[in-house]
Amino acid sequence: MNNIIDGKLVSSAVKASVATEVQKLKENGINPSLAVILVGNDPASAVYVKNKQKACIDTGIVPIQITMPEDTAESTLLNKIDELNADDSVHGILVQLPLPKHISEEKVIDRISPKKDVDAFTHDSVGRIVEGKYSFLPCTPAGIMKLLEYYNVDIQGKECVIIGRSNIVGKPMALLMLNASGTVTVCHSKTKNLSEITKRADILVVAIGKAEFVTSDMVKEGAVVIDVGINRMPDGKLKGDVDFDGVSRVASLITPVPGGVGPMTIAMLMQNTAFAAKSISENKNQ
Ligand code: NDP
Repeated sequence: MNNIIDGKLVSSAVKASVATEVQKLKENGINPSLAVILVGNDPASAVYVKNKQKACIDTGIVPIQITMPEDTAESTLLNKIDELNADDSVHGILVQLPLPKHISEEKVIDRISPKKDVDAFTHDSVGRIVEGKYSFLPCTPAGIMKLLEYYNVDIQGKECVIIGRSNIVGKPMALLMLNASGTVTVCHSKTKNLSEITKRADILVVAIGKAEFVTSDMVKEGAVVIDVGINRMPDGKLKGDVDFDGVSRVASLITPVPGGVGPMTIAMLMQNTAFAAKSISENKNQ
């Protein structure tokens, strides 16, 4: 099918351009690095951290992995972040979520220096995104914007419908589409007549976490459909939030799962890290 948005292809292009940028920085004596903190033994988190390390290596970024036990005190983690904030050789800092229950995610994330906030989850970064004056964009919505740009999908004036209002995906996605002059509607679990709203969408972004929730009767002919969902099925396979077989018959463009939005998230993290290294070094030289 020729209406599939190939996230692997676009993420490879992004990573190749990051690798070139990293090489240039190295030639100027800057060695971009990303510190990833993993607290506890969550197996899914361990896989995500490993994938991030691999992407660092692929792009020439130095991965710094910090593993802390499940019973780590919140103060110990905050002290570690202070240490990384003050360390000039560290350019990006990321705390893998979720954290153990006894630690406040909000407090921990907000301790990261805004200059090193490559996930763009701190209050400072979120505020900047609201005003459209950001340094970093959250990786998943930024990856989606990159996919739309790559496939020449113009957002200006389009009806953009997002299902899901999480702080990580739905809300920042809405802001980025609004900043790009889309007409944005955000739907959630309390939305009434969901299908009526989704059928208006020129661009439909789905981030719910329910396998194959969006079916072809909910989608306008010719719409661009972006599926953020990652749902592990009992047989071990991954499925998105969109019924791919049905919806791909009506959509003009659609992301598959896997191979759509997923690979973009890590590629954008690498891009943010290279950007952090560049701006930290530029500010130091001023
Ligand atoms: P959350 O669970 O934080 O949010 C889910 C959202 O979906 C909520 O806003 C919820 O509404 C809404 N929702 C749930 N059920 C319905 C419904 N029946 N109708 C309309 N809206 C509904 O999830 P995330 O945003 O963190 O993640 C969403 C999905 O994206 C997950 O599958 C996750 O694994 C995946 N993901 C993928 C990434 C990638 O790189 N590809 C990155 C991040 C997430 P309400 O607020 O009312 O509860």
